[in-house]
Amino acid sequence: MFWADQVADEILKSKRYIPYWVDDMKTPSGRVHVGALRGVVVHDLVFKALKNKGANAKFTYVFENHDPMDDIPSYLPRGKYEKYLGMPLFKIPSPEPGFSDFASYHALEFKNVFNAMGCEPEIIWTKDLYTGGKMNPIIKEVLDKADKVRQVYKTLYDKDLPKNWYPFQLYCPNCGKVSTTIVTDWDGEKVAYECQVDKVKWTKGCGSKGEASPFSSKEGMTGKLPWKVEWPAKWKAIGITVEGAGKDHMSSGGSHDFAKLICENVIDYPVPYPITYEWLLVGGKKMSSSRGVGTSAKEMLQILPPQLNRFLMVRIKVNQQINFDPSDPQTIPALFDDYQRCAQAYFNHGDKDQARIFELSQVGKAEKPPYVRFSVLAQWVQMPNMEEEIIKNGLTDWAGYARVWVERFAPEKDKFSIQKDLPETTKKLSAAQKKLLYKIAAELNKKWVAEEFQTRIYDLGKELELSGNDTFAAIYLSLLGKNHGPKAAWLILSLDRKFVKERFNAV
Ligand SMILES: [Zn+2]
Repeated sequence: MFWADQVADEILKSKRYIPYWVDDMKTPSGRVHVGALRGVVVHDLVFKALKNKGANAKFTYVFENHDPMDDIPSYLPRGKYEKYLGMPLFKIPSPEPGFSDFASYHALEFKNVFNAMGCEPEIIWTKDLYTGGKMNPIIKEVLDKADKVRQVYKTLYDKDLPKNWYPFQLYCPNCGKVSTTIVTDWDGEKVAYECQVDKVKWTKGCGSKGEASPFSSKEGMTGKLPWKVEWPAKWKAIGITVEGAGKDHMSSGGSHDFAKLICENVIDYPVPYPITYEWLLVGGKKMSSSRGVGTSAKEMLQILPPQLNRFLMVRIKVNQQINFDPSDPQTIPALFDDYQRCAQAYFNHGDKDQARIFELSQVGKAEKPPYVRFSVLAQWVQMPNMEEEIIKNGLTDWAGYARVWVERFAPEKDKFSIQKDLPETTKKLSAAQKKLLYKIAAELNKKWVAEEFQTRIYDLGKELELSGNDTFAAIYLSLLGKNHGPKAAWLILSLDRKFVKERFNAV
């Protein structure tokens, strides 16, 4: 059975995860990389598997726009952004006009990508969660039970936190930074805070001290829980019952174990059904969103159609690493081949897992993909006058991706272009090869079907005692300046006949 269906079965059987509220999250601190897409797709699959089984499931995605900027993405001017380090992302200006702030600029780009891939979670902004008052009762609970939170640090990390350590970070009323503040007391209504000049290495606090309410309201957000406490607090505030994370968070002693202890010992909330997923690497590397390194999620839509992007993640079990390496010339053509195979299983009632993988890779209604192989299409897009053939075979959409592949990832041997002038390489042709070309030129007055023309070329070569290789090399060398190329008859028939005739007669 497909893994997400198994997970859905388990969730439904246990009856502990009602009302089936699936959630995932991300801090939009920079251009979101490909790896984060796996989390969205994994949660989307579990959500859809639950829906398929008749559960009234819900799917949300939390953008943590209230987190501080702790690094400046490499693609942005450092000088312009340095002053915002330590401030919440929603208070920092967007790099481009048209967006309300830094967080929404990056979040909406990412949202557009996963929406295009058929993932349509309801979006929740953490700032709204706080200012809407949903976090307030939990903030009070956590501050009241600060000793129990300290105990969790002791249990899990053997860390002794001082009695005046409180799990809250105030947005400094003076300088607006959050990374620099600590809370040292709590009287049930207000917290005492300090904005420490040297709390972190990468930005300075203003040194102010005072008292303030930790509760946010419509008038504004006053501060936040530390991330590790906030994760489970968010589960409770929203009512989440299913949420996983990448394996780093889920490892023993990781933030999920921490969250679990907070649930059990502090906020009394059942831990959501956990799903641990492995990395999605691109070319063997894990990417970082704040550093802006690696392939951004947006770039993925430029190199693969949305369905293939989903397919890339759907077909690999959640606990297995995906290493997508588009620079390997086999990767993308093989992915398209696999997709066509799974489509066959779906439409011809073949292998059940393959059929399900295809079904869950769809964006909207399942559509039959083209039958022409991607590797052939990659040749077609390099031949002139193939537009009609491409349209006739329903390849217009895939042709765009084939062109991108040829341009960016195809090895030299798979690239070709019709040479405007007679290539130098034709000087090496034998007398028999030249004769072959004259004979082919003479055949061009007739009407030809590609298959039959291919046989005719082969037979003409044979008559001249040429091997198959030498026969076709003659054609490729005179047209492409290379000794190999796409199927010769198709290549010739895609070209202007007069041009081919003149070329072959000129060798
Ligand atoms: Zn300050």
